[in-house]
Amino acid sequence: MVKKKWKRNLMLMSAITGLGFTTLYPGLTTKTQASGLPDQPLPKEESVSVVQLEVPNQKAKDKLLELGIDLAHRASEHSGILEVDAVVTPTELAMLKTFGIKVKDTLITEKEWKARTAERQTAVQQEANLTAAEDSVKILRANYYTNQSETFLYVEAKTSAGAAASTALTATWTENGVEKSATLERFEDANQYMYHFLEIPVSSIPSSVKITSNLGGFAVSSVTEWLGVDKPGSPKKHYVKDFVDHYMAPAELYERANKLAKEFPDLVEIIDMPNKTNGYRRLAQATVGSSTNSSVVITSKVWGHEGGNDISVEFRNPEISDSPLKVTIDGKKILVDLATDSSAKVTSTAKQVVDALNSDAKELVSATTYRGIAGAETVSPATATLTDGLKAPASVSRDPFTVKAIRIGKHRDGSKPGVLGYAQEHAREWVTPLVTIETAERLLRNYAYNGETKKLVDNLDIFLVPTVNPDGANYSFYDYNMQRKNMTNYCGQDKSDQGFRNSWGVDINRNHSVGSAFDGYVGASTTNCTSSTYAGPSETSEPEAKNIVWLADKFSNIKFAMNIHSYGGYFMWSPGAYDANRTTLPRPTAGEEAFYWAASDTILNDIQDHRGTVILPSRTGPVPDVLYSAAGNSADYLWYAKGIYAWDFEVGADLWNKDRQRWEAVGFQPAFSEGHEEAMEFANGLIGMIKVAYNNSKDHQPPSSKAVPGNGKFSGPVEVSFETSEAATIYYTLDGRRPTFESEKIKLSGIREDAETLKVDKTTTINWFAVDAAGNIEKNYNPLSKGNNFNSVTLTIK
Ligand SMILES: [Zn+2]
Repeated sequence: MVKKKWKRNLMLMSAITGLGFTTLYPGLTTKTQASGLPDQPLPKEESVSVVQLEVPNQKAKDKLLELGIDLAHRASEHSGILEVDAVVTPTELAMLKTFGIKVKDTLITEKEWKARTAERQTAVQQEANLTAAEDSVKILRANYYTNQSETFLYVEAKTSAGAAASTALTATWTENGVEKSATLERFEDANQYMYHFLEIPVSSIPSSVKITSNLGGFAVSSVTEWLGVDKPGSPKKHYVKDFVDHYMAPAELYERANKLAKEFPDLVEIIDMPNKTNGYRRLAQATVGSSTNSSVVITSKVWGHEGGNDISVEFRNPEISDSPLKVTIDGKKILVDLATDSSAKVTSTAKQVVDALNSDAKELVSATTYRGIAGAETVSPATATLTDGLKAPASVSRDPFTVKAIRIGKHRDGSKPGVLGYAQEHAREWVTPLVTIETAERLLRNYAYNGETKKLVDNLDIFLVPTVNPDGANYSFYDYNMQRKNMTNYCGQDKSDQGFRNSWGVDINRNHSVGSAFDGYVGASTTNCTSSTYAGPSETSEPEAKNIVWLADKFSNIKFAMNIHSYGGYFMWSPGAYDANRTTLPRPTAGEEAFYWAASDTILNDIQDHRGTVILPSRTGPVPDVLYSAAGNSADYLWYAKGIYAWDFEVGADLWNKDRQRWEAVGFQPAFSEGHEEAMEFANGLIGMIKVAYNNSKDHQPPSSKAVPGNGKFSGPVEVSFETSEAATIYYTLDGRRPTFESEKIKLSGIREDAETLKVDKTTTINWFAVDAAGNIEKNYNPLSKGNNFNSVTLTIK
């Protein structure tokens, strides 16, 4: 597992500070390149770590952005000093120090990443071993008992594959001739699988119970009366959860989704989205040479795994005088006989070798000088084998990926309101897919026995996309943990040697068409292909972004969406971007904003229920009010272009360290024990949003509203405010016309403030109506027809 980022500071430092290489690297050889810069040894790879930086002032913060430092989502401010988390190399840190930016804390080092990956590999292997074959199921007890109020069925069962959280046991039994079923709860103590159990009220005593595993094993037992006189207290509502026990790579997520589709064919289907990713694949490359002005970058014409990796090159001194430069191809072997002078000394420059390869080996490779440098120095004899550098085992597909959505609902015909949860636009955010998988399992496995779950699944059309960016995710799991973007390289030949391989790609959450960097919004780069927030060559250029657009187009019943990221513990909504003047995209109306806040209440309470995590008020609200500007993000697209209520989660709230008396960041890839808790609490939150959608769908009650003050005579100017019975948008006119959807809307009076008031300083009639988030219009007024049952007050100013 390599998690390194090539030193990309040489040119950066020179560009930013105006210093030449000689100043920074005295003592190096000073053979001059055509650009006037000395020939340099090729830069070496450095490891990266996630650190918390202390940024003393706005100027230093701007510097950070200007340098394109890879920032995490989390940021906070204490007494004027800004703290941001960033992914940096030691060289970048040294440079930041010169701008007064200091490291406050090191959050994750390369060593810890390696430990995470090893932990995951062990779990994957363990699961594979456990679930490879049919399991054996043993029923430990099957009892009934009756307390003061009800009769209960209680079952304990054990499966040989119980240590894997994906193993699920289902009980079936008969009550009064009707077959019932429910998923058993898995009980683990101190990471040790104990057994599965079930305790639920029954209307008649079943004679037997059958336990079936999703791996195929089963067992049957008769149900006997519990002999003990001690009756348990009032049992909890039966609700099963906890179906993830390690970080899951894309193939595993889809395998799990397919398994669920097979087990619950009536409730779930898998949707193949039409835009395939570019694939976890690369061209094979080699940089032959040891210095910038004498190196040749060679790139295969075919993908590494399709033959590029088999290509080898040899630069050879033919050891004869006055020999010409000559390229010979033998199968996948390219032999370059370098030109020599009268004393058999090599005279071919890097540029000459590049030209020869492009002419005589063009079937196999293309060649360039190093990063646009002239290549004026003579090359040295050397051999190299081209490689795509990809480290995932061959079992991880290199083909373009079909991104999948799990569609859950009893009626999946578009007739029910749609809800969308999508995760892992950013590859390194490993917890986020687990939130969707856990949510899917809970919805399906609790359907049969939990009334609340059944209600949601029967009345909604739920779409879950576990990983939007599977190529980047594979790269993050197998090659470079801190991968954020997809793997598509849009850099020209100057930045396409493998030294940049961890910096290529498009930020999927900056590639959308609303409030984009192409339109002048802040928080993404349109020019720097290696920036961590590179917006791509054009709006919606990437298949990963196109798929979300396709989903929203194809399923126009989708009304609510959650874009799941990590980390920091944020809960946010539109607007998500502002321009260079800090003018944001249009703010939601006061009524829409009120709805966003009201929904937060449900969702954040559900998150808190798991282990008490509080999503702080300072991290709840429109994106630019609590975090930063994110030009071209997907939630803004869904809200502004598709009218979908769209939120962003940043899972992984800071943890309070009691000993140190401070909040500590959890990072992108916390130890699984923490990642697991985050997945559990944010699955609560995602189901909370699904509940909000359900309640919205059942809201057929029009809002009511009143103007304060109302009709009357006033001696001077009056501030008029509106009171509504629920979160609702007010459309109004002040010139006596009928109010319509084209009329003015009551806005917020300011950022994080209440609704505005209307200042009336001359006699005015206000006509208005209110619309709630479900689209119900006050008094069933129809703004599109000719009716007049809108509200009206006249304020007479003397
Ligand atoms: Zn993210």
